[in-house]
Amino acid sequence: MLSDNVANKIAAGEVVERPAAVLKELMENAVDAGARRIDVTISSGGRKLIQVQDDGRGMGRDDALLCIERHATSKIRDVDDIECVGTLGFRGEALAAIASVSRFKLTTGTGGNAAGTRLAVNGGKLEDVADTGCARGTAIEVRDLFYNVPARRKFLRTDQTELGHLRTVFNNQALANPAIGMSLTVDGSFLHRLAPDAELLERVIELCGPDVREGLVEVSFEYSGVKVGGMISRPVLHRADRSEQYVFINRRAASAPVVMYALREGYQGTLPNGRHPVIFLYLELAAADVDVNVHPTKREVRFRRSNAVRDAVMGAIRDALGVHTRPAADNLPLPEPQAPRVLHRQLNIAGLPQFPAFDYPRKSSAGDGALHSGAPSGGTQGDAVMPPSIETQLWRWCRVVGQVGGLYVLLETDDGMVVMDPHAAHERVLYERMLKTGAQAENAVQALLMAETVTLPPREAALLGRHLDLLTKMGFGVEVFGDNTFKVESLPAVVAGAAPRALVDEILLEFKEGRAAGHGMRRREEAVARAACRAAVKGRSKLSLQELEQLVADLAQCEMPYTCPHGRPALIFTSFRELERKFGR
Ligand code: ADP
Ligand code: MG
Repeated sequence: MLSDNVANKIAAGEVVERPAAVLKELMENAVDAGARRIDVTISSGGRKLIQVQDDGRGMGRDDALLCIERHATSKIRDVDDIECVGTLGFRGEALAAIASVSRFKLTTGTGGNAAGTRLAVNGGKLEDVADTGCARGTAIEVRDLFYNVPARRKFLRTDQTELGHLRTVFNNQALANPAIGMSLTVDGSFLHRLAPDAELLERVIELCGPDVREGLVEVSFEYSGVKVGGMISRPVLHRADRSEQYVFINRRAASAPVVMYALREGYQGTLPNGRHPVIFLYLELAAADVDVNVHPTKREVRFRRSNAVRDAVMGAIRDALGVHTRPAADNLPLPEPQAPRVLHRQLNIAGLPQFPAFDYPRKSSAGDGALHSGAPSGGTQGDAVMPPSIETQLWRWCRVVGQVGGLYVLLETDDGMVVMDPHAAHERVLYERMLKTGAQAENAVQALLMAETVTLPPREAALLGRHLDLLTKMGFGVEVFGDNTFKVESLPAVVAGAAPRALVDEILLEFKEGRAAGHGMRRREEAVARAACRAAVKGRSKLSLQELEQLVADLAQCEMPYTCPHGRPALIFTSFRELERKFGR
């Protein structure tokens, strides 16, 4: 039999891997105790001190003595209770583990007239117990973490790194519990002072800064017993890493591979390559459908019905972003068709100083027809392009200022300046058009003047051969024409400009990269469409001004105008506000 002290130290290896883990356990206990306010103090990256003070229900003397024992918990009694556990803790091992590898002080009281209790534990040995005056609540002080476990101490990183982890824990708790007032003091200075009873958005702004506000959109979706709420970034807001992705499952900062997968799928094709959305996502589902007891730190959970979770998260994201294409899973709930939640809203910044400051030439809209027939002809650069419907456009008003670098198109809109990559934009327009008409099966088909043959290496020929049915269905007239050779006779009208050879190469590239492999029919269609649009745009000659304006108008009508189908940006938007800031006005 191992002595309790040894067992605790071993458990500490799992539960308390670094200072951030201590903070997580202490803050979770405070939340479980019903705190309305939690104050956190840290010094030297948590090495010297981690202190958490709450105004929760506190403990009487007996419980205070018990709580540092291994397997002492007030939260469950039976294994079955784990099935529907509503608290963050339940294993009863955190305090015992922490107290065994630190100099630990606990001060706690239940309020009223009862005396409070103070106790000191060093390396797992209870050294002092005393009555003390103490308001309702609990304060726990953890000093010199791992002072008696040198092997562990060696694994601690720089204060800066440990602090980074500590702040992530604090942010997680702050976002999971906007109702609780919180503060974070690091090495003597306040990093955060968060007011209680905050709305999620307020809390997000307090933690992440005001510039995320415009880029976020609310999520509210329910499918098959899984509720998904919170806020996620529109495609204009993205980061180089995932550090601003917060996922909560039943109010617990946790994740699961299936959630990460669904996030990626939900955003598929909307963000530049290698960029990541900003996410504050809250999943609520029956406690019995989540297994939180997978790992001692409970950071990862398992779902009983993971398909429902996947579909709910994907549906939620696509709904919030206003993408109404049918996602990969065929059983996925499509959001109710509704007035499209348009992505242009982040361009209409409320409270902006009034622009324009001088009179822009404006062109009034005369309905859909005006766009196509009445677009200004070459040379009249001052004319505005007015997309037909105010509801579905990217900007209320915009004009083509000109072209720079022999390629990029400069636009002025009502809220700022846009630099557009016409190739990416064109790919996007064709792509959405193709998938829309594709959905009606009868893609308008255009015959090539001369059928072309394409010969491929055997392996690639086999790959293409496997997808011939899909190509036919989408309107490509491609058929086998002898060994490893195919004949291309016609193309969907939308991408008729594509050279057959380039088209086949692009399609093979998509299938080779595996982006479409193993996925549903819809994903394979999307891959073919992506390839076809890229090939079509490659074959384009220089656009005239009139064509550019048409392109701008067409792009404004797209569901996802910010990127090309491969994820490259199509637009870079700079608001007048940002310009003002940069010019120090
Ligand atoms: P668990 O949270 O899994 O129950 P812990 O070791 O974290 O295990 O805590 C043991 C017990 O100590 C808890 O069940 C709770 O009763 C009590 N406790 C811990 N922290 C606090 C606190 N801040 N306020 C009130 N009670 C607490
Ligand atoms: Mg706990």
